[in-house]
Amino acid sequence: MDSAELIDRLQKIVEPGYVLSSEMDLALYGYDASLERGRPDVVVVPGSTQEVSRVVALAYREKIPVVARGSGTNLSGGSIPLKGGIVVHFSRMNRILEIDIPNRTVTVEPGLITLDLQNRLLKEGFVYAPDPASQKVSTIGGNLGENSGGPHCLKYGVTTNHVLGAEVVLYDGTVVWTGGKSQDNPGYDLTGLLVGSEGTLGLVTKVILKILRAPEAVKTMLAIYSSIEDASNTVSAIIAEGIIPATLEMMDHLIITAVEESVHAGYPLDAAAVLIIELDGMSDGMDRQAEKILEICKRHGVTDIQVAKDDAARERLWAGRKGAFGAVARLRPSYMVCDGTVPRTRLPEVLSRVMEVGKKHGVLIGNVFHAGDGNLHPLILFDERDEGELQRVQKAASEILKICAKVGGTISGEHGIGVEKIKEMPLVFSDRDLEAMRQVKTAFDPEGILNPGKILPDPLSLPQNR
Ligand SMILES: Cc1cc2nc3c(=O)[nH]c(=O)nc-3n(C[C@H](O)[C@H](O)[C@H](O)COP(=O)(O)OP(=O)(O)OC[C@H]3O[C@@H](n4cnc5c(N)ncnc54)[C@H](O)[C@@H]3O)c2cc1C
Repeated sequence: MDSAELIDRLQKIVEPGYVLSSEMDLALYGYDASLERGRPDVVVVPGSTQEVSRVVALAYREKIPVVARGSGTNLSGGSIPLKGGIVVHFSRMNRILEIDIPNRTVTVEPGLITLDLQNRLLKEGFVYAPDPASQKVSTIGGNLGENSGGPHCLKYGVTTNHVLGAEVVLYDGTVVWTGGKSQDNPGYDLTGLLVGSEGTLGLVTKVILKILRAPEAVKTMLAIYSSIEDASNTVSAIIAEGIIPATLEMMDHLIITAVEESVHAGYPLDAAAVLIIELDGMSDGMDRQAEKILEICKRHGVTDIQVAKDDAARERLWAGRKGAFGAVARLRPSYMVCDGTVPRTRLPEVLSRVMEVGKKHGVLIGNVFHAGDGNLHPLILFDERDEGELQRVQKAASEILKICAKVGGTISGEHGIGVEKIKEMPLVFSDRDLEAMRQVKTAFDPEGILNPGKILPDPLSLPQNR
């Protein structure tokens, strides 16, 4: 089917104004927040499950690739239309369908912005725990696609721990439900399979999420260090004492300076590292827990601790952390985020090896990350227009992931595999492991039309099969 006929057929399913095909639209939807680029043949913006189902059924009959898209903020190329085809943009399907307080669930459409859900729930005294730093823009569908984390996931778990069920459009347009409102569903855990599948197994059109009571009290502290090792050792020591704060986030000197220039969060410019430590829960006992943390920080060489005195001060501390990725644009025009995870006791050693990798390849690296989870985010700063520098960045990123895998960690804590980390999959999975995943993919997508070219390396591309 040629492009004109495809557009014509899609305009019979979705209102013509929601079928986009101008040069500008196709260029815009060829991007996400990664360094990958592609180009769709057409973009549709459906308004209902039925429309999604009819679009996918058409794509299946005609063997056209289909790529689901939330806000395109993923950092691994997950929403790039590598092989052209139809991008299904969920921005119109953004409603909260039901808030069910007695059962502590909320049912939403996938295009809902994460922060819009959080703000709405707070009015009821409830929260949806996963809080990616991109929450002002990211969607629930994208969070599900990537199994996103966030600062509060140390205590509460990542997206998969909060998704109870989903309505899904399968490869041929069939609509099914997985899971449901109950906490434990019989049969195969298809919901678990869908979370983190990056749009390669089905298109999610409704999601049932768990909600929690908003904490009675919150205490946020900024611990300041003159050495990154001291900050890292504090992280392991706090958890070893049996305390699980709501968050334990770290930023190094380079990030602190960039953040201060742009957000003015009040971080000290002479610090080698800072930790944002937040406690939440009942107010009873919280001061005691904060004192214990203070004692641990002192044992590990903290130079100062600031405690946020009110909501405004707390917001300011968080604005720095949440604005960190944007702030580094002051230093270099582009960045690549590595998203490896390591056992948290290995943080000091791995951080120093990351900096050595930066020196070896002549690239600038800043670290801002979910330290409590051992989830590193080395930001490699560069200029995308310099081809030579880009290659050095890619080599450095690959080496960093190898280090993470070698110390018993893995190649993604929360940003997914997409295209960017596909060649690193054999670092953590054997051929047989990958083959088992391919069989799952084939069962869900026999014609290979759902977000092709993502997550699973082509067996022929693996070194041992070449
Ligand atoms: C500044 C910045 C900060 C970030 N901070 C964090 C962070 O703290 N934690 C974190 O985990 N991530 C973070 N990210 C990465 C990103 O924001 C998350 O991965 C987010 O969940 C992506 O949401 P999105 O709506 O933009 O999805 P997209 O990027 O549009 O899509 C993500 C994936 O989900 C699939 N998808 C989207 N909608 C559906 C659907 N309805 N059905 C099936 N599949 C679908 C897509 O095909 C794609 O594979 C950050 C990114 C940026 C740019």
